[in-house]
Amino acid sequence: MKLNEKGLLVIISGPSGVGKGTIRKALFQIPDNNFCYSVSMTTRAPREGEVDGQDYFFVSREEFERRIKDNALLEYAEFVGEYYGTPLDYIDKQMESGKEVIVEIEVQGALQVQERIPEAVFIFIVPPSKKALIERLEKRGTDTPEKIKKRIEKAEREYSLAYKYDYIVVNDEVTNAADRIYAIIRAEHAKTERSIYKYYKLMEGKE
Ligand code: 5GP
Repeated sequence: MKLNEKGLLVIISGPSGVGKGTIRKALFQIPDNNFCYSVSMTTRAPREGEVDGQDYFFVSREEFERRIKDNALLEYAEFVGEYYGTPLDYIDKQMESGKEVIVEIEVQGALQVQERIPEAVFIFIVPPSKKALIERLEKRGTDTPEKIKKRIEKAEREYSLAYKYDYIVVNDEVTNAADRIYAIIRAEHAKTERSIYKYYKLMEGKE
């Protein structure tokens, strides 16, 4: 008999430009996964090809500030002049259904989640080198040089917070990084503190 465990809340975080989004997409390509993605809300404009409700919920500042006031966000942060946040209602629903909820957010937001839900799994993504990070931000071609500079400065400050996370995953190659995250999720399910009570119930014949 399989131990019946609730889905995990998995926070994929790290400085901008490390490839969090690409790793997350690769993670969803793993066959037979049980993941669902927490679509964030933002006030920034959609980039070419981005779809409302799929990549982000794109909203006005007024709408976002209303959500903050209504306590409808698990966390939020202002990043390079725009708001980003995680809607609470969706996460609750998915976790109850036993799915692994994957949240991809920047560092300030991840630390807020840690305060509220310490049992979530916190993964910090790092680039293979600083040079690789700068190249990635410049190649993206969607930000002005001033914005790129701000993102690099912010990344440098955020590296010092890596020690607060449960795991560090190097993004040397996207599929490798996604495989490591998958392995972390599987190992987390086997952690004694997550599964011992269910195991006791199983031994008592209650499950
Ligand atoms: P981008 O504008 O490049 O899509 O995202 C900028 C940063 O915001 C990225 O580091 C991304 O991970 C982060 N981000 C996306 N959604 C959220 C969210 O809901 N909350 C927080 N705190 N950060 C987010």
